[in-house]
Amino acid sequence: MGELKTGTVIRTDAKVCHVDLGERVVQAAPRGILFDTGEGVRSDQKNPIAVGDRVEVDLASNPASLDRVLPRRNCFSSNRTDRILAACVWGEIPATLIVNKVDLSDEEELGAIRATYEKARVPVLFTCALDGRGIEELRAGLTGRVSILYGASGAGKSSLLNAIEPGLKLKVGKISKYWDTGKHTTSYSQLHKLEAGGAVIDTPGIRVFRLYGVPVGNLRDLFTDFAPFQARCKFPDCTHDHEPDCSVFEAVERGEIAASRFASYLELLDEARKAPAADEEEPTGQAQEE
Ligand code: GDP
Ligand code: ZN
Repeated sequence: MGELKTGTVIRTDAKVCHVDLGERVVQAAPRGILFDTGEGVRSDQKNPIAVGDRVEVDLASNPASLDRVLPRRNCFSSNRTDRILAACVWGEIPATLIVNKVDLSDEEELGAIRATYEKARVPVLFTCALDGRGIEELRAGLTGRVSILYGASGAGKSSLLNAIEPGLKLKVGKISKYWDTGKHTTSYSQLHKLEAGGAVIDTPGIRVFRLYGVPVGNLRDLFTDFAPFQARCKFPDCTHDHEPDCSVFEAVERGEIAASRFASYLELLDEARKAPAADEEEPTGQAQEE
């Protein structure tokens, strides 16, 4: 038995992963068994380790070895959230992050989410459609303007709308039993007028939210929490990916930028680099329905 530590993967290279252990970042080599079928492998993934994953690292071996990928603790998807928020910055659309089902989360988890998004200057609203927490604030925020609700199906969008306006009588829990095969029961967006003024557009659940049309060099500016650091990178056009003396990467190592945000950025950067030429592009923020 070695010295096992739990951390978050913030970067994956060909043979090593950079794992943020909180107090420092270590490089760890994934154990071969992770690439076989069986224990610890997410069968739907060709590469079993993704940035953002929680993993166990054995520091006693040299180099450190990445022994296990931990199951995701909750349904809060920072990657999905960060994509949508980045699209909002690009489109200059003011956004609020609504974290629903707080009855199922603990204080520590919620505090971490708030701290992460406060740095990106995104207002965070905690709600519970069942006991009414945050519903007044949500109603106030939606009144008098047209808003769009984005989120996975099952996140509680219909429940929240019913809570702010019971007259809407939206069907709750409409995830179909065909969920597993990828079929869906709601494929339309609908605009609901609010009695107090304003309207909300409810969208079908999103499985993949892709950012189209954002030039690679602009992507870093969509992560507003990078701003205080990136002016100090050695290269003025630093992509914070491979460049030396990168202040953003150093801030991630010190915990001043959330590792999950950096992981989301790197994933979007990777996608942007592989994106088709501009004339083949679809509009920004294409959401693929569930
Ligand atoms: P939608 O697909 O985003 O419209 O989600 P729904 O409103 O249909 O809710 C999906 C499921 O989550 C339903 O079973 C709801 O009862 C449940 N749900 C919604 N909000 C909450 C909440 O705040 N706490 C808990 N525990 N469950 C909730
Ligand atoms: Zn940099």
